[in-house]
Amino acid sequence: MRKMTLLFQGDVLSVATRYRVFPVKYRHILQKYSAYYNVLPLADKQKFQKRVLRFIHSKRFISRGFSKVTDEMKVLISAAATQLTFGLPQIYLTHFDKILIYPDTYYSTINKMYHVGEVNPRMGAIILSWKSFVDGYADPTDSFNVGIHEMAHAIHFENRIRNSEFDFLDAESLYVFGKIAASEISRLRRGEPHFFRSYAGTNEHEFFAVALEYFFEKPVEFRGSLPLLYKTLSTLLNQDPAELYKLR
Ligand SMILES: [Zn+2]
Repeated sequence: MRKMTLLFQGDVLSVATRYRVFPVKYRHILQKYSAYYNVLPLADKQKFQKRVLRFIHSKRFISRGFSKVTDEMKVLISAAATQLTFGLPQIYLTHFDKILIYPDTYYSTINKMYHVGEVNPRMGAIILSWKSFVDGYADPTDSFNVGIHEMAHAIHFENRIRNSEFDFLDAESLYVFGKIAASEISRLRRGEPHFFRSYAGTNEHEFFAVALEYFFEKPVEFRGSLPLLYKTLSTLLNQDPAELYKLR
């Protein structure tokens, strides 16, 4: 792990110039598929591009069961991570240096189920089904987004892993989030009508990941339905999609 970190640091200088130029084909991919990128003011678009590029260069994208990782895969998966961390100081999910991509849902021998994505801190890997990832972005307002969901898990883990990106989430907001999550999970488990789908009641980690899907895909309704939770997540990530998407 230490060796890989050093390799990356040694690589920073050599790729520094590449960070400055965002390829036109990458910009076209964002313009075509990222609703979030498209509503950003111009200066923020440039900041977003820089972060996406740096994310791309800091990861190993590995194809599983198909020949080659495409530019679209690299750009859009990196854009999902950048979207979540955009209000924070520069966070690139350092611990997770591998992105494994399956063409479709994949079978996990561990829990004998088909998966759309998962985050594996032991492997330092974020694992995604590309088909499911694309489905998530096909409708940016339906509150289903595997990319956002898995990146939310990754951020939650990264915050607790002792490395250069340790403890970057505001502790007080996390504490408040935990309190609200506990009471909302109880409501979900009692089967009460809820703004979130029932899967959010699984545990606090899934509650966080599902909450961020709604945060980015139904922000106005979220703010109206669960205002304190919305405000807490907005403070935690230092951004407010309900206001951002007003410009849409
Ligand atoms: Zn999950």
